[in-house]
Amino acid sequence: MSTTFDGRVALITGGSRGIGAAIARRLAEAGATVAINYRSNAGAADELVEELRAHGHRAEAFGGDVTDPARIADVVARVVEEFGALHLLASNAGIEHFAPLADITLADFENVFRTNVGGQLFAVQAAAAVMPPGSRIVLTSSVSARIAVHRHTLYAASKAAVSAMALNLAPELAEAGIAINAVAPGGTATDMAAENGADYVHPALAGVEPQQVTRSMNALGRLARPDEIADAVAFLLSQNASYITGSTLDVAGGWMR
Ligand code: NDP
Repeated sequence: MSTTFDGRVALITGGSRGIGAAIARRLAEAGATVAINYRSNAGAADELVEELRAHGHRAEAFGGDVTDPARIADVVARVVEEFGALHLLASNAGIEHFAPLADITLADFENVFRTNVGGQLFAVQAAAAVMPPGSRIVLTSSVSARIAVHRHTLYAASKAAVSAMALNLAPELAEAGIAINAVAPGGTATDMAAENGADYVHPALAGVEPQQVTRSMNALGRLARPDEIADAVAFLLSQNASYITGSTLDVAGGWMR
């Protein structure tokens, strides 16, 4: 198996922290030039760029909020201007949301869907317009798209939409020689997971520590490390996945419900 990305330029949305940062490290280690997109945390993005450059990799940070299609188109244009091409897109930027049905507002709906669905759709639109044949895209869904978690409706619906996008864009992008897939991570040890409180613990389990509930829901009994998700993304972005498009790959430790 060869997973070299020599000569390939990769854009990772939400690449400054968590899973996105792990993807950036993984692709850079395998030879890719990496463009790290972030929303507001320029410090984290710059720190990662410095780390990668210190290891001899080519990397640059590109600020831009994916909820604004014009901003993400600008990020793609700047990447091509800086590095000459774009071959790989890891569309990873996303936000979490928990709320009981009665508390969900139109603003919540717009924020979650503009980020988790629109942010990925318009990133693909901008990237596909400049990608040469042989390019590859990975979206970020979630195991939440196919399981029930207490008060997680809006987030789960947005992630189900992501898998539907990967499936439906596959034939259209195949005409341009571009493959598109999604990963569906389970609970992964990042800032996002750390910020999850007791919101998702079912009332019948009141008092049980939230992360204990997460651990109990998968066969491996633990959260994923970000690099374990990054390995799956790297596989789907590589030529080893040449006959895979339109799929969603669970990376969820054997989620049991
Ligand atoms: P984190 O909250 O740790 O990091 C989020 C990253 O996305 C940051 O780089 C952040 O930038 C960026 N980001 C957020 N909103 C925007 C935006 N509007 N425009 C551009 N960048 C943005 O998240 P994770 O690493 O945990 O999650 C990454 C992806 O994986 C998400 O799509 C998430 O839904 C999905 N996922 C995560 C799981 C988990 O348990 N952690 C499980 C299943 C799926 P900045 O630093 O500037 O804020």
